[in-house]
Amino acid sequence: MKITKITTDTLSVPLKKPFKTALRTVHAIENVLVRVETDEGLIGLGEAAPTALITGDTFPAIEGAIRGPIAAALTGHPLDDFDGLMAALHGALLKNTSAKAAVDMALYDLRAQSLGVPLYKLLGGNKQRLDTDITISLNSTETMVSDSLEAVEAGFRILKIKVGRDPANDPQTIAEIRQAVGADVILRVDPNQGWTPKEAVRAILLIEDKGCDVELVEQPVHALDINGLRFVTERVQTPILADECMFSPQDAEEIIRTRAADYLNIKLMKTGGIYQALKICALAETHRVQCMMGCMLEAKISVGAAAHLAAGKGIIRMVDLDGPALCAADPFTGGPVFNGPGITMTGDPGLGVRLQAFE
Ligand code: MG
Repeated sequence: MKITKITTDTLSVPLKKPFKTALRTVHAIENVLVRVETDEGLIGLGEAAPTALITGDTFPAIEGAIRGPIAAALTGHPLDDFDGLMAALHGALLKNTSAKAAVDMALYDLRAQSLGVPLYKLLGGNKQRLDTDITISLNSTETMVSDSLEAVEAGFRILKIKVGRDPANDPQTIAEIRQAVGADVILRVDPNQGWTPKEAVRAILLIEDKGCDVELVEQPVHALDINGLRFVTERVQTPILADECMFSPQDAEEIIRTRAADYLNIKLMKTGGIYQALKICALAETHRVQCMMGCMLEAKISVGAAAHLAAGKGIIRMVDLDGPALCAADPFTGGPVFNGPGITMTGDPGLGVRLQAFE
């Protein structure tokens, strides 16, 4: 079986409410949809989220990378030579991790379909169900408290709270949310690089003093400030999760070696797909570093791929795959079932996710 054609399209899905972080406000998902076709009629699907502020990848850049160097490198390549395909994909051009991720997951979709198994089984896993957190966008404290209560009412037991715009008041926001939702809800805090190292230490110590019982703090300082991240990690009890500073297996290796963070957040748009993410999982397993599976603002194709990886690897202990839960429409069929906080894996071969309008 050979790769015959790689095409891109636009995947638009409206959000229930605007997604707000310290970095941006977004009203709808506008992602790149990828179809990889073979000479035996199988079609693999992929999705890339243009998140320029984090990955540097814009919509036209992703399309250009896929239609240009990636399509040229892969067309005509046999699917059976999967290692060779991955070498061709990752060797086609530098960086461009979102474009590579979309094509990588379409190739894994094809490979698992050709073997007649769901992707997570191919990746070695047997988790049947994942529990995701849900993002509480950065707003006034009053709105964030009511959004948190609404999420708990909807069945979510893990909240990921976006802060980072106001280090002096962020701990109070967390404390008010903790008081409102009670002791049983797990709280994760994500300042999205919004604090300086010293602000971060001060804020996290205050969060600890207030007894907020936070599971982790994600990427408190700027992505390029690895020394600053280690400064924070060394000075607080709360586990620190590396996100925007970790793209590649080399980044993961450096963070683990220097103990700059306690946990790693794997996102396919940062790693360039599953093939590279598996290398990070192997490093994390070796050094007993827990991982989270995260996503950008992505719909069910790429979040589905992330769910397969999370279900496939034991070292991925935390799941932050709320993309579909934030969407106001669901134009997909098949694949992992997203129902509030629960993600249930199915026996559909490959990713399993199909987009009816394009079939
Ligand atoms: Mg994050």
